Amino acid sequence: MTAFLRLLFRNRLAALGAAVLALILALVILAPLLPLPDPDATATAERFARPFSPGHLLGTDHLGRDLLARLVHGTRMSLAIGLAAALAAAVLGSAIGIVAGYAGGRTDNIIMRAIDMLMAFPYILLALAIVAALGPGLLNALIAVAAVNIPFFARNIRGITVGLAGREFIDAARLAGMGHGRIILSELLPNVLPVIVIGVSTTVGWMILETAGLSFLGLGSQPPQADLGSMLGEARAALITAPHTSVVPGLMIFLIVMSINLLGDGVRDALDPRLKSGALSRPRATTRVDRKGPVPDAPAKGLLDLQSLETQFHVGPRVYRAVNQVSLHVGRGECLGIIGESGSGKSVTALSVTGLVASPPGVVTGGAVRYEGEDLLGMPYGRLRAIRGEKIAYIFQDPLATLHPLYRIGAQMAEAIQVHHRVGAKEAEGRALELLRAVRIPNPESRLRNYPHEMSGGMRQRVGIAMALANDPEVLIADEPTTALDVTVQAQILALLDELRRERGLAIVFITHDFGVVAQLCDRVAVMYAGRIVEQGPTAEILARPAHPYTARLIACVPELGGGKRELAAIPGLPPVVDKLPPGCAFAPRCDRARPDCRAGEIALAGSGRHDVRCLHPEVTP
Ligand code: ADP
Ligand code: MG
Repeated sequence: MTAFLRLLFRNRLAALGAAVLALILALVILAPLLPLPDPDATATAERFARPFSPGHLLGTDHLGRDLLARLVHGTRMSLAIGLAAALAAAVLGSAIGIVAGYAGGRTDNIIMRAIDMLMAFPYILLALAIVAALGPGLLNALIAVAAVNIPFFARNIRGITVGLAGREFIDAARLAGMGHGRIILSELLPNVLPVIVIGVSTTVGWMILETAGLSFLGLGSQPPQADLGSMLGEARAALITAPHTSVVPGLMIFLIVMSINLLGDGVRDALDPRLKSGALSRPRATTRVDRKGPVPDAPAKGLLDLQSLETQFHVGPRVYRAVNQVSLHVGRGECLGIIGESGSGKSVTALSVTGLVASPPGVVTGGAVRYEGEDLLGMPYGRLRAIRGEKIAYIFQDPLATLHPLYRIGAQMAEAIQVHHRVGAKEAEGRALELLRAVRIPNPESRLRNYPHEMSGGMRQRVGIAMALANDPEVLIADEPTTALDVTVQAQILALLDELRRERGLAIVFITHDFGVVAQLCDRVAVMYAGRIVEQGPTAEILARPAHPYTARLIACVPELGGGKRELAAIPGLPPVVDKLPPGCAFAPRCDRARPDCRAGEIALAGSGRHDVRCLHPEVTP
């Protein structure tokens, strides 16, 4: 809750709205205690007194009633009616929507058609008709305003509920034997509640206006009772001769609606989970680069060269060092493996290359990424865009999240090509077909017309691989590309990648947690732990004689076929969280070779340059 408020008030406009609204609320709540004259006491001798006249700070109206007193009491009435109407509409409308969306089928149809009929009437006409039927009065105005706003909530909430009702967690609740009522209250309601809150916060202002409108027409509050609308209505006749009588309630309506809307927008932004982790802005097109030290200017090695790259996540006061002084390079036709447990910083390293780490909270705080000698960090966005997907392509880790759910596979693949090349639809489709064949998708012609949800996870992953290869990139960064594939397809994909690098000189950065895959494909391998490279060198050498205890343990985790009965050694403990790393070796707490000096200070990556290790007591000396 405090986190929510902090986020809310970081938005200056929302804070301003909240402050103004709080002032107004304090004023109307304390109204009975304030030394105000009776708002309904007439004094015809003092009609239309100007503001700041003695005894009447804001002047008087056409019956000589004190405007300040009427304003405070009128605001109190308008706010109460508007809020009550909003709450009533939200509760009733949301209940209708959630039931219709959850029930589906005929119930949904009947309820929603009734709601549609309600919506088919012009808004204000419907309110007028309801008041005409019930008779004028504030309570009836409240009922009318609430009733015309029910469809807004019902349709909104129904739409979201329909999407949720088919999800797996609802099925799971049903399988667990929960009744419909429980499912609605404990499974669906918490998921739609933020939307309801946002709906209320953005419509309260509107409902206050509507109530004021009805009162203005004489259908709401009845004389002598004041509300903002009736004050405006009564002042209408004297608009020219005594403008202050209209300006005072008009200004108050403006202040109320404005402050509620500003606050409502702020609440909506703060409740958006995508904005929670960072500031109140959406991720930028490239990762923010804020290098503290000088840019490394060593001559670039290979085609793609990461030099002392540092990427951090700045979340509130905490700094997560996800990538810490990582130097890697890969040349044409070469395959570099990056291996490490989950959370060791492999994906963030890969995403940093073309500035794909979400900012905020991601910041590149140091180093350089040279592609053909040129630094990609801080490069003008237009140039970087031309490189993304065309020269440096990605196979992303999560194949479900990277495909658009509403477009066919063929269209998405064609788009990937057409972003960078002027080719016709036919040609792009032909290329897509060829790629699907290359990644061994059966019946590629019909698969082109499939939506992502019609494919299995493994097939979607293969589509992701095909899209990455669509523009014949120079560098391919593959982030655990074969995790969802069975071993035979995995072997075929690895063979395809191997062929591409041998024939076309494709440079591959292959991220995985599987040493078996590394052994098959990679020339060199870098082992990451807690954001740092702890060992790197030629694959064969590292597999045969791992130097870092962590590497040795990782290799020991791989089962061997025909290797006889052998206990698979899991690594005890968990990888550390990267915001409070201990001094010295981050692996020391889990390492059985650790000695006191391991925890003392910075340990350098040292060795022959071909095979390096970051360890004071390695298993072997490289
Ligand atoms: P992996 O090696 O499994 O690919 P990642 O590169 O995805 O690991 O993550 C590296 C580290 O960065 C993890 O410790 C993770 O907690 C942290 N991290 C990733 N994204 C964020 C984020 N948005 N905010 C804070 N920390 C993050
Ligand atoms: Mg990852």
